[in-house]
Amino acid sequence: MTTPTCRYASCTNAHYAAGACRRHREQEIHGGPVSTHTVGDVQHLMRRIIDHYPTAREAIKTVGISYESYYRIMRSDTRATLKTPTYRRIIAAARNLDGAPAEKTTGITRAEVAAYALTTEGQAFIAECLAPKQVAA
Ligand SMILES: [Zn+2]
Repeated sequence: MTTPTCRYASCTNAHYAAGACRRHREQEIHGGPVSTHTVGDVQHLMRRIIDHYPTAREAIKTVGISYESYYRIMRSDTRATLKTPTYRRIIAAARNLDGAPAEKTTGITRAEVAAYALTTEGQAFIAECLAPKQVAA
């Protein structure tokens, strides 16, 4: 089974509505230039934003995007297109980040990671991670 794609020639985007991808469908509805913002433009920023808040929920609320948009950004193919307002909110939120990332309320804290990094075991692990990958014989 293949994923349906956009009916526009040479467009390989996934089907969104009425036979077209989201980008082309929005152009048909609203006219004007097609948005060229993609998930790939903001995915790394969204991850950085999330890292600055104790929970994803708080980050999403602060950025002012919907959960639907958030999941789309975090899960989608990086070539998927984004609505301009969503794109702008993420860019603005990323610009407003200040200071060090907040510590998560669950899981391993940054302080714990830092403490581990100072141990012999931690340094060996880091060295292993940084070493070039060995090709299995
Ligand atoms: Zn298309």
